[in-house]
Amino acid sequence: PVKQDVTVNSLLREIVLLSESEAMLKGCILENVPSRHDLHLWVDVKQIKQVLLNIVKNALDAISYNIGKPGKIKIQSRASDQAAIISIKDNGPGMDQKTLAKLFEPFFTTKESGTGLGLSVCYRIIRNHGGAIHVTSSLGEGTEFIIKLPMKESAP
Ligand code: ADP
Ligand code: MG
Repeated sequence: PVKQDVTVNSLLREIVLLSESEAMLKGCILENVPSRHDLHLWVDVKQIKQVLLNIVKNALDAISYNIGKPGKIKIQSRASDQAAIISIKDNGPGMDQKTLAKLFEPFFTTKESGTGLGLSVCYRIIRNHGGAIHVTSSLGEGTEFIIKLPMKESAP
């Protein structure tokens, strides 16, 4: 009952607005490349915003560990078949295999005051929407989160 029609560009615009001040404080470049066409989703907007904010927040946390390299986060989206693909890529420290393997487990955190709940919640929300989350990461280079969500016409 809470699902609405929303475009990926409008969601990402709002996430960037909400994250800009923290990015600015950290000297991080937050780049948002809107998709050329509007990609319509049929989703619980609050939940999807929570997912995107969590992932951008993790990227902002990650770039704090950069030494002598300004942080950069790039957000992009595109269509692929009946799905919208959202990519959030940072140039932070990346993750080792051990961290990657546990990423979506509840209470897994490497942060002093982390809860380790963010990504387990993101995973559940995206799965409940018939989508998927993938991560690629390389140590010293950065991390990319890729979220796939069905577009409105094909939403479950
Ligand atoms: P929390 O942020 O409370 O630690 P999350 O579930 O959001 O919990 O993230 C779990 C762990 O995944 C983090 O503690 C961190 O080790 C790792 N992580 C998540 N996103 C990134 C990222 N962009 N770069 C490096 N590590 C990340
Ligand atoms: Mg988190």
